[in-house]
Amino acid sequence: MTSPKDLESLQSEITSLAKRQDDLETIVLEIMERHEAAQARAKELSAALEDLESKAADAAARRDAVLREIDAEAESVRTERAEAVAAIPADLLKLYEKLREQQGGVGAAQLYQRRCEGCRLELNITEVNEVRAAAPDAVVRCENCRRILVRTPKSGL
Ligand SMILES: [Zn+2]
Repeated sequence: MTSPKDLESLQSEITSLAKRQDDLETIVLEIMERHEAAQARAKELSAALEDLESKAADAAARRDAVLREIDAEAESVRTERAEAVAAIPADLLKLYEKLREQQGGVGAAQLYQRRCEGCRLELNITEVNEVRAAAPDAVVRCENCRRILVRTPKSGL
């Protein structure tokens, strides 16, 4: 048989172990709660990521569609330009290309209501008279910016 002292010691150990078990259960419970919260957050982030990936894919698809439109338009403009260039005399085309290089990409400008649309300056009366007197197929140029002036019914001549 166990002595009363041993029994007391055993009871003390049981009480201590019960307290330890209780503490460990509390810790396990806390860990489970944190784990659940972490899982919920992971689910949220995963859904947010999926949403962002979907938006990125949409944006990329829209960008690609716009790029295809731009490419098609550029190709169409290149074709139109090649056709237009074919009808222009070589020396005039050479002058135009030279002016275009010198004048920031614009070698010819519309003469609109007596004003050069290239440099935005209005022609003086002498210049207007010279342009008016020039043959319809003559190449007239702006006295200020030297661009080729394109005459139209709206030139104000
Ligand atoms: Zn000009």
